[in-house]
Amino acid sequence: MALPTDFIGCEVRRFGMTKYLFLTGGVVSSVGKGVAAAAIGKLLKERGFNPSIQKLDPYINVDPGTMSPYQHGEVYVLDDGAETDLDLGHYERFIDTSLSQVCNVTTGQIYSHVIAQERHGDFLGGTIQVIPHITNEIKRRIRMVPRDTKADIVLVEIGGTVGDIESLPFLEALRQMRSDLGRENTLYIHVTWLPFIGATGEIKTKPTQHSVRELRSIGISPDVIIARSDHPVGEELREKIALFCDVDRRAVIPLTTASLLYEVPLLLEREGLGDFILDRLSLVPKEKPNWSAWEALVAAERIKRPKVRIALVGKYVELQDAYMSVREAVRHAALEVGVEAEILWLHSAELEKGRGWDELKSSDGIIVPGGFGSRGIEGKIAAARYARENKIPYLGLCLGMQVMVIEFGRHVFGSEDVNSTEFNRNTPHPVIDLLPEQRGVDDMGGTMRLGLYPCQIVQNTKVSQAYEKNFVQERHRHRFEFNNTYREIFGEHGMLFSGLSPDNRLVEIAEFKDHPFMVGSQFHPEFLSRPSRPHPLFKSFMEATAEHSGVRSDKSTEKVDAPGNLIPDSK
Ligand code: GLN
Repeated sequence: MALPTDFIGCEVRRFGMTKYLFLTGGVVSSVGKGVAAAAIGKLLKERGFNPSIQKLDPYINVDPGTMSPYQHGEVYVLDDGAETDLDLGHYERFIDTSLSQVCNVTTGQIYSHVIAQERHGDFLGGTIQVIPHITNEIKRRIRMVPRDTKADIVLVEIGGTVGDIESLPFLEALRQMRSDLGRENTLYIHVTWLPFIGATGEIKTKPTQHSVRELRSIGISPDVIIARSDHPVGEELREKIALFCDVDRRAVIPLTTASLLYEVPLLLEREGLGDFILDRLSLVPKEKPNWSAWEALVAAERIKRPKVRIALVGKYVELQDAYMSVREAVRHAALEVGVEAEILWLHSAELEKGRGWDELKSSDGIIVPGGFGSRGIEGKIAAARYARENKIPYLGLCLGMQVMVIEFGRHVFGSEDVNSTEFNRNTPHPVIDLLPEQRGVDDMGGTMRLGLYPCQIVQNTKVSQAYEKNFVQERHRHRFEFNNTYREIFGEHGMLFSGLSPDNRLVEIAEFKDHPFMVGSQFHPEFLSRPSRPHPLFKSFMEATAEHSGVRSDKSTEKVDAPGNLIPDSK
């Protein structure tokens, strides 16, 4: 097999031959391809490899940063400040790694790059075409992953469903990568959906067959089919899919909808996917998978725990995907503290109309997450007031911190005119204001304060107790900041600035002295919470919430039993 010289020169010499797994989706969207990719990453990590996962999104936006959460769900932020698809959150949480901006590529990025090269005259008068110019650029971006992240195995997930017009150049690039790298270094995994016909009680494979045929017409023959279903898939169906789709029977992996997200790697392991992938790519495991910690996590989630109610007061609550990482961070913290957190999804604009207050008042803790724009802002401010006055645990995430500051300003100055200049440019008390460097920024895309920034923790605060550290780094995504003009007077009235930028210029975390737990961070702690490592702020908030609800979180009383063995010992 002839390898392109850049592969020989770079990948082989530096890392050994990188292996590529390509994940496509068939039949319908939203079948959990992102979670499947993350779970496969986990199978590889457990075997001692260093996988990285890349998402190729066929839309024309340069990144999801400018898209409405209703369109796209949460915008997930990486250490390096890349604004990415929420699937990258799944990837990071499952394989417990920090990904880089090369891990999310869109059609918009590909075309802007190629067009810029064309304008620069780089193509020496050639006609620029989808094949080879766009496909070459896609391949180049895929190959950047092992160079940038030092991954030995790269999983590439293509957004959308096979058959979409916009994904064609991506699929063509994947097809070419097999000719470039050889069968032994590439694997195509197709994730499909098996519909269930209620009238006859049958699971149908026909749409999967059609989708595989569609993929074949593009020149890609899947090596593995992950067949998603709401109902258990028997051996007979597995045989049938193998026969009709021309794949190894071992390579048909049924994946029944899991009640718990973190169970998915265990289900895939049980079906033998990890071993099949390694066999097929002639890889020898570097370590024997040890699932005990992950199994314990899943088993702990199944154990009945005392319930606490968390009100999440947001603007996009109809689409819970808009708060994916917040929901996961709550889940991680609840597990650690030994409670079960029920999230009450409250629309802040409804609170403004007097609706939803009974639910808010029934909650043991309140979270106000991030957001943009003025719709529903007064409802969030009202929720913060309720939390402060009634000493209900409160966690403010970015906008949630700003809301806490506005509310306190209104209390201190006795004036409802106190505001952020995001919502009222002419407020007499701009307690939250634009950063000087943000003034005059007209472009909306990628221009916020983004990514990891350092934060000095002030001792003898609730936040220092939570972190048990003097210095942390957290991920940001915002334009507005606490206005330092108000630091002194707010301090005199009981607000503590418990996290500051090292140069003391920016307030990163605020809390109240006389409150069991009312903390707001200018950053987004939810992006760094991991299933086995809940974020300290979420954990402390959850402890305060459990305390408030009367639940004592004495870990020794709800010790998790030895986890049920979900994985057969050997295969
Ligand atoms: N809209 C606010 C700002 O830009 C908060 C952003 C956020 O919550 N991510 O500063």
